[in-house]
Amino acid sequence: MIVTVASGKGGTGKTTVAVNLALTLAGDARPLFLDCDVEEPNAALFLHPKIEERREVGQLIPEVDPEKCTYCGRCAEVCQYSAIAVVAKKVLVFPELCHGCGSCTLNCPTGAISEVLDVMGTIERGWAGSVEFAQGTMDVGEAMAVPIIHQLKDWVIPAAPGERPVILDAPPGTACPVVESMRGADFVLLVTEPTPFGLHDMRLTVEVARDELHLPVGVVINRYGVGDEGVEEYCAAEGIPILMRLPLDRRIAEAYSEGRPLVEALPEYREQFAALWRRIEEEVENAD
Ligand code: SF4
Ligand code: SF4
Repeated sequence: MIVTVASGKGGTGKTTVAVNLALTLAGDARPLFLDCDVEEPNAALFLHPKIEERREVGQLIPEVDPEKCTYCGRCAEVCQYSAIAVVAKKVLVFPELCHGCGSCTLNCPTGAISEVLDVMGTIERGWAGSVEFAQGTMDVGEAMAVPIIHQLKDWVIPAAPGERPVILDAPPGTACPVVESMRGADFVLLVTEPTPFGLHDMRLTVEVARDELHLPVGVVINRYGVGDEGVEEYCAAEGIPILMRLPLDRRIAEAYSEGRPLVEALPEYREQFAALWRRIEEEVENAD
């Protein structure tokens, strides 16, 4: 079962929930954990994985051989993203606009275009005890996270047998990288705070996960006890189950600041995370 843990904004406790869920399932289940927050991956700070394999990832972009090019302009005509232009006796490629679709290469009449890898970041895999760990990291200055997340998922998820729990820690927000992190999931777990800001961002995430991708969703309210009833009322009105309430507890914040996973610093929370996973399983079963 594949569960994506998401939140409309950063700082809601999304990584805390994802990491502690994985650690609670550790053991015979051998969960697979993916840190898809490629702009700022930080789950490794809590899981301390031993990295065993690393590879560069990116996108294939066109490279033009000036010996073969006739400057006919066909490549620029077929590019839907204005990522290649023919100016006088020069072909210019704009990697930041290129989507790697290969159309220019296919349509070049002289075979002047070959494809080269434009490195955007790295993906890594290894183990943190019995939790299989994988993360992507985007290079500084890169603009596109989606290809990195896509290649990270492609690398590790197909190798994990279907019965193993797979937990993805999505980037914050509701943009394309989040959609890519949710694609193919069986369930989306939304982590929010019981405040008007938390509610606003959670609604946007529900629109993406439930309304656009048609995935079952559930909510974890973090820092329960602050704020107002808005999130509870919204979930009741929308029929969205609240699967866990993590209280505002100073000890949780202290464990986080020390880089200690909650279920190790405060083992009494382990049963709550185990119950959370059981609730997710029930929700997925009911959605089938
Ligand atoms: S389509 Fe090929 S030959 Fe024509 S301008 Fe582009 S690279 Fe050159
Ligand atoms: S690979 Fe696709 S997006 Fe990139 S330059 Fe060629 S046609 Fe344009």
